Parts: sequence; structure tokens; C-alpha cells
Amino acid sequence: MKRKIYWNMCLVALFSMVVGTLITTWLLCQDLQEQMRRDVAAEVRYLEAAVELSGQEYLDQLSSQGDGGSINRITWISPDGQVLYDSFADRESLENHRNRPEIVDALKTGRGESVRLSDTLAEQTYYYASRLEDGTAIRVASTTSSGLAAMFHTIPLMIGMAVVIFGVTMMLADIQTKRIVEPINELDPDALQAEHVYDELSPLVRRLEKQKETIKEQMVTLREKQEEFAAITENMQEGFIVVDSKADVISYNSSAVRILGVDLSLDDEAGGNGAVNVIRLNRSSSFRQVVDEALAGQRSQQNLDINGRHYQIIANPVVEAWDKRGAVVVILDVTEQQNREELRREFTANVSHELKTPLTSISGYAEIMKSGLVQPEDMGRFSEKIYVEAQRLITLVGDIIRLSQLDEGKAETQKSAIDLYRAASIVVDRIKDVAQKAKVSIDIEGQPTVVQGAEQILEEMIFNLCDNAIKYNKPNGQVHVKVSVENGHPVLKVADTGIGIPAEDKERIFERFYRVDKSHSKQIGGTGLGLSIVKHGAIYHQAQVEMESKLGAGTTIKIIF
Ligand code: ADP
Repeated sequence: MKRKIYWNMCLVALFSMVVGTLITTWLLCQDLQEQMRRDVAAEVRYLEAAVELSGQEYLDQLSSQGDGGSINRITWISPDGQVLYDSFADRESLENHRNRPEIVDALKTGRGESVRLSDTLAEQTYYYASRLEDGTAIRVASTTSSGLAAMFHTIPLMIGMAVVIFGVTMMLADIQTKRIVEPINELDPDALQAEHVYDELSPLVRRLEKQKETIKEQMVTLREKQEEFAAITENMQEGFIVVDSKADVISYNSSAVRILGVDLSLDDEAGGNGAVNVIRLNRSSSFRQVVDEALAGQRSQQNLDINGRHYQIIANPVVEAWDKRGAVVVILDVTEQQNREELRREFTANVSHELKTPLTSISGYAEIMKSGLVQPEDMGRFSEKIYVEAQRLITLVGDIIRLSQLDEGKAETQKSAIDLYRAASIVVDRIKDVAQKAKVSIDIEGQPTVVQGAEQILEEMIFNLCDNAIKYNKPNGQVHVKVSVENGHPVLKVADTGIGIPAEDKERIFERFYRVDKSHSKQIGGTGLGLSIVKHGAIYHQAQVEMESKLGAGTTIKIIF
């Protein structure tokens, strides 16, 4: 704009200068010619009077004095056009002047004038003729430079003047341009005030002010939306990454950073503006493949293991415009899900196996009995075996049902105030015979202690603990059951003087079907599900299970409510 104003001003100055000069020159030329014509006419009038008075004599006298001091050419012409006298040339050498326009007019009307240009157009001659009383005509001719020539003469001067004027004009234009542009340059976009600028700019400034207000409002809305979006994504457990068409990270949440173990904030601080390529977050080929496929416009998903956990990477294409592509990558932690699936698979395999063993035994004994090969006196033994295996099956199925109920949260949902000591006493009474058979003594200590719980589950938990304490005991061993309150928490403790649990198995004995000594456990009727039911029962009661065991010395299991 500054340049445009500047050059426009210069152009206007140049144009005015040229036109002004031309007009002035033309007017000056006109004025000079007018003056010259008046002089010539006056001279003709003097000559007219002199020739009227003295005739040829006066003109001869003029000749004798040179040209009589006149710079103009004086010619006297007879009525038939013959030159009688000429101050510049010999009259004999001059041709007849009868047809000269000024002579024609003078002879006819008394006065005649004409202007003729020289061949080179450099000079022009003004002729003025007057008829005398005797019919002759006196003519004065004045030669001056032509208008064009006059102009050509002045060209160097004009150029000189133009250069000077143009220089000054440029300087003034520069100053003026700065003065015009300065208020515009000094406009403060943060403090626009229509009354402080040129009138012509006021509508623009007012519109800008309005737009500024609109932008401000839009910015507030945008910021709110962004904060809302950030709050949502930040509270997501799932990792969330948005990438542009070049797979550069545009947005991410802290879960993504935590899962991938990359500190993107450091790149932000380094001025990277988050322009980190997504490949840097995880260099595995499956991660890259998911992102690439999404950027190519296809939904994609892959499983990925990071730091011992299982994740599902899902990438969806985002198309804003045909040339604007991107992708949203969501990282789901599926570790629990996969573990549960793995457990379920294992459980199904174990259940099938556990069910198959007693069923095969029952089927085998029944087959022998059917074939009639069994002696009548052995019948009781065979029936007993079938009964024991069937009982085993019933216990196993019962345990499986109880576990799956606990798993699915379908166990008695109604909790009530239960006296833990009473429940434990009932179990101890019930199991006393079993203990006696195993040559193990069992006793209970404590006082009424109320917990919120489900009676049947609680009794099952206590039964399983006492049953194990008897099963995995030594002859003449002891089982001590205690109900107490520790640090304000009701506690059930079952301690035995049994075989103990090896340190390496301590973590695993609460798993389904896990037994330290499989054959021993089966022999004594264990299902491998007892402690699993204890663990899930404790979870159901929001209780904690603690275990201490010393190989060969005994085991103590505590349930802290
Ligand atoms: P099971 O039906 O085989 O007893 P549990 O789940 O009740 O199954 O116990 C898992 C395993 O833990 C048992 O097989 C046994 O090896 C071990 N165990 C449980 N309780 C005791 C205990 N009181 N003393 C020693 N070992 C025990």
C-alpha cells in the first residue's frame, strides 16, 4: 500500500508537471505571437503612413540605412503583384507576389495576413499586408521559431527542471506517504477505536471490532469444548491418540502415555508442539500396521503385549476432507479379560478331567458288577467304591456350582448380621467325627462376633479351612479355630500342626484345581477347589485372606473381615 501510494503520487506529480509545462509553453507561445502580430501590424501602419507621404523615397532611405533598424522584412508590392521593394532581397530576383494569400486579401479588402511554416517546420513567418491609396501593398514579415521548435528548444531545460522537481516530489511523496500510512500502521488490533482512525477506515474498523468479538466468543466456546474433550479423554482408562495424515501425534491422553511408556510432554516442552510421529510411541510392526491401515481409510485392530500386559489396539480412520486424513487410535487393556479367558479355558479343561476320573471309576466298577464276575462277598466293597466316587462327584459338582455362583455374583445377595463364632462352632461340631477318624483334635476359642455376611458361604469357607487343616495334618495333630477381633476387625483363624505348604506353592494354592500333592489330595477326597471357594467367599465379604505356613510344622490361615 505504501509503495502504491508513493508511486501514485509520483505519477500524478509527473503527469501534472508534463501537462503544466506543455500548457504553459503553448500559452507563452500564443502570447508571444500575439505580441509579435501587434508589433508587425503597428510597423505596417507606420510604413503605410510613411510611404503614403514619401513614397519610394522613404523606402530608399530605409535601404540606405540598412534595414532601417527593423528585424522584420519589408516588401512593397505593386497592384499586379510585382515586388517594388524588399528589405532582405533584390526585388528583381523575387517572383510575383500576386497569389500570396495576404496580398490577395490586402488588395481585395485593404488588410491581409497569413502564417507560413518553413520547410523544416523550425520557423514560422507571419505576413501582414496593407493596401495603400495608390493600390500598391506594403507587407511586413516577421520570422520566429515555430511553437514546436520553441518547445524543442526548451526540452533540455524542461528535463533539468523535471529532474529537480521530480526529485523534490519523490521526497515529498515519501514524507506524505509515511504520514498517510502511519496511523494505519499504528492501529492496535487489541484496542481498535473507530473514532481514532481515518473516516474512510471507520466502517472497516467497526467490522473488525465486531469480528474480534465473534472470534473471542468462538474461542471461549472452542476452549470449553476442548477442555470438555480433554476431561473426557483424561478420565479414560483407555489410551487415546489422534494422528494426522503424516502419522504425527495431534492429541493424546495420559493413559496412552502411561501404557506406551513414552514421555510426550518432553517433546512438547522442547517446542515440538506434539509433532511426534506415532511410530516413536511403539516401534512394533503390528502397531505401525494398525495406524497405516487406518490412515489408508480402513478400520484396523491388533493385539499387542507391552510390559507384560495385553492390549488391543483399535485404529479408526478420520476423514475431514478428501485431502485431510487422520486416525484415532484407542488402546484397550485386555489383560484381565485375556487372563479370565485363559482361566476359564483351564477351568473347563480341569473340570472335564476331574469329572472324568470318578466317572471312569464308577463306570468300571459297574461294568464288572454287570458282567457277574464279582463274588457276592465283594459286592459290598464294589458298591462302597461306587458310592465314594459318586460322593466325590457330588462334592465336586457342588464346589463347581458354588464357585461359579461366587464368580458371577449370584450367591445369596442378601447379607445379614451373622455371629461368626456361632457359625464356626457349628462347623467344628459337624467336622468333629472326621477329625476323630483322622486322629486329629479340633477345638474352638472365642466369643460372639458379628459380621455382615451370607451364612451358607461363611460356613462353607470355615468348613473348607477346617477340612484342609484336618486332611493335611499328621496323626495326633491339632486344629485350633479362633474367632477374635484384631484392630477392630473380626478375624477367623484356623491353625493346624500339619504338613505345611512349601514356600513356592503358597501363591498358587488359591488357584482352582491347584494342589501341592495331587495324588495325595485326590486320595483323601480333595477337589482342589476348597481354597478357591475361600478366596472368592472372602472377596464376596470384602475380607482379606492371610496365610502363614511352615513346611512340616503347620499352617495358619486368617480371614480378616
Ligand atoms: P483340596 O481339595 O485339594 O484340598 P484346596 O483348594 O482346598 O484343594 O487346597 C489346595 C491345596 O493346598 C491342597 O491340595 C493342599 O496341597 C494345600 N493345602 C490346603 N490347606 C492346607 C493345609 N492346611 N496344610 C497343608 N496344605 C494345605
